[in-house]
Amino acid sequence: MSEPIRTCIACGLKKPKGELIRTAASLDGEGRGAYVCISAACAERALKRKMFARPLRVGEDAIDWVRLERELMEKVNLTNA
Ligand SMILES: [Zn+2]
Repeated sequence: MSEPIRTCIACGLKKPKGELIRTAASLDGEGRGAYVCISAACAERALKRKMFARPLRVGEDAIDWVRLERELMEKVNLTNA
């Protein structure tokens, strides 16, 4: 029961890490991560407002938004299937 708590960048709710989707700026997932709820609403909100750049500490141009969207939606769909 000692799962770390992380904050969803879209809605600001704090949840156990396992209940959030982790994203990273790099393809291999290394480096800083940003977390969103496993929900289409939070994923879309964070994508639309490009809310990932700041927590990941990279410029918006450093993020492959198309890939990120695909990854997030895949995880949302898998979890809610
Ligand atoms: Zn959220």
